[in-house]
Amino acid sequence: MTRLSLRSVTHTYPGDYPITALRDVTLTIEAGEYVALVGPSGSGKSTLLNILGLLDRPTSGAYRIGDTDTAPLSDSATSLLRTRTFGIIFQAFHLMDRRTSLDNAAMGTLYHGLDSSERTRLASAALHFVGLANASGQRVSTMSGGQRQRVAIARAITTGAPVILADEPTGNLDTASGEAVITSLERLNASGTTLIVVTHDLEIASRAHRIITLRDGTIVSDTPTAHTPRPAPPPPTEKRRYSHVRFTDFFADVWRGLATHTSRTIGLAAAIALAVTFALTTIGVAFTARYQVSDVFDATANRRVTVATEGASDQQMNARLIALSRDHDNLDRVRRIAGVEEAAAFIYRPAAAVSAHLGHTESVDVVSLVDSVRPTQRLTVPDYPRSRPLATDEVFIGATAAATIGLGPVAARPAVSINGSVYTVVGIVTDAGLRAELLNSVITSDATPHPLGTPTWAGLEIRTSPGAAQQVARLAPVAWMPTASAGLTTTAPPDPVSMRATIESSVTATLITLTIVSIIAAVIALTGAMTSTVRQRYHEFGLRRTIGARRRHIASIIVVETIILSLLGGTVGIALSVIATLGVAIARRWQPVIEPALLPAGVALALVVGILGSLMGAWKASRISPADALRV
Ligand code: ADP
Repeated sequence: MTRLSLRSVTHTYPGDYPITALRDVTLTIEAGEYVALVGPSGSGKSTLLNILGLLDRPTSGAYRIGDTDTAPLSDSATSLLRTRTFGIIFQAFHLMDRRTSLDNAAMGTLYHGLDSSERTRLASAALHFVGLANASGQRVSTMSGGQRQRVAIARAITTGAPVILADEPTGNLDTASGEAVITSLERLNASGTTLIVVTHDLEIASRAHRIITLRDGTIVSDTPTAHTPRPAPPPPTEKRRYSHVRFTDFFADVWRGLATHTSRTIGLAAAIALAVTFALTTIGVAFTARYQVSDVFDATANRRVTVATEGASDQQMNARLIALSRDHDNLDRVRRIAGVEEAAAFIYRPAAAVSAHLGHTESVDVVSLVDSVRPTQRLTVPDYPRSRPLATDEVFIGATAAATIGLGPVAARPAVSINGSVYTVVGIVTDAGLRAELLNSVITSDATPHPLGTPTWAGLEIRTSPGAAQQVARLAPVAWMPTASAGLTTTAPPDPVSMRATIESSVTATLITLTIVSIIAAVIALTGAMTSTVRQRYHEFGLRRTIGARRRHIASIIVVETIILSLLGGTVGIALSVIATLGVAIARRWQPVIEPALLPAGVALALVVGILGSLMGAWKASRISPADALRV
């Protein structure tokens, strides 16, 4: 028997100025009664109804439903008892506007563990009961207020709850619609359901069997009317698993929620798609760029090795090294090292006074080329035949030096004077590899008989085949001067393999950091979006709680919705990221690298972003208090 009894119940709303909405209320309502709660606005009627309906708890005093003391019940036990005992109807209807009336009515039993055909049967029967059998496929948003309230009644009665609580059910309706609603409720009471109606309307109140009047939170009168109460009905015999939801129903409900709010769904999926696109594009471009950087590195990978006598410790040693550098056999030995493509030796001398025939005299460095038989090894001299030796009275001149002294065109075989001796210029050096200073020098054969200043140092310039630089750098000093290699200084590029690894790992680290940052940004953005949709759906979640959803059901709605959104958004994101990566590769003329593992990674990423991004919203939604959410 569903007797409701309150003993000395007080309810105070906490806050800076706590408000005591109910004071010491003692009240018993028997099964099958029809009670009207009346009183001026602010007298505590809704608070009393919320406490009766287990939407709120007394601050002090006792509330028993049948033999059950409600005070010690946990949140889930309270949900369960609420669903089993009450159907609740609100002034503001709280329907899912975009769904049909049948869908809305069937919501009433969503959390009751019934199979879906049974739920549909109950919903249809309830719609029939409230006179809406013909409107079951109609969207609630297209219905009148009276029809909507009757859908809400249908939803409340599908569960077969023994008590109906109605908070101003006609408050938003015109008289005719209000009459239809009250008639439906009274027919329900006639079949044995306890009916408790909060109302302002004394005419409606007078139709009840008992009128309880509240003022300032206390009961000021409690009087029976002329109507006779019906005898209490037998308790329901149905076996139900209240506060339980079938997975397929749950999923269908979530899916309908997403499908009926297309713009919200698209917005959230787009947020996830963007996050996935950004993260995957970062990784995709990273792979492509990394490959590209390494490739460029390998292609030009410093293939230059230089050896110099500059390290010689004293004059005598220096003179000896320079003498050795002039030995053609020594140079040929270097040229025979595996991996050496070209090698040239230069002897550097002090600057000399150099002048062109008609130009000015300038101080220009002088360099002698060892092995003038193949003078263009390591020197770029346009229009100079590769196999033509440099004669002892001929010179090359660096492009910069040529301009400085005002040299005429080479085709005219201009002459220059170096410290008074005359030479013919046969070529202009436009590139000298790493030895850029040669562009500012005159280059003679080392066999020239004319006195040119005392050599200061000698250097060897080598171009190796790709990847051979390290090896050549080790062998070249010994090959060049087997007896004096200790006096030589070698420079070679770092080992390309380890350099490549270093570059790759730093590029990868940078991009992984970017990816992580973009994921965190996505999670934060999604958290914001999800919590704001939870705020918009405040009433919906409050309502779900009143019809039996436990906190975890509410949290699961958000999480499952986000998982669906993540899969949608993730797929779009993967496609966009592939396009973006290809776009970058094409624009930069790089070879695109699309890592197949990124596709499942994209889905996983979307799920991680989605689930992390939904946690806050899920938590907030699950904490919504139904009494607060459904207050008009
Ligand atoms: P009624 O339904 O008779 O209009 P209520 O039960 O809604 O009265 O309110 C009773 C008193 O409690 C009022 O003074 C109201 O301002 C206050 N009240 C209602 N809900 C809250 C709340 N959530 N927080 C603080 N005060 C509240």
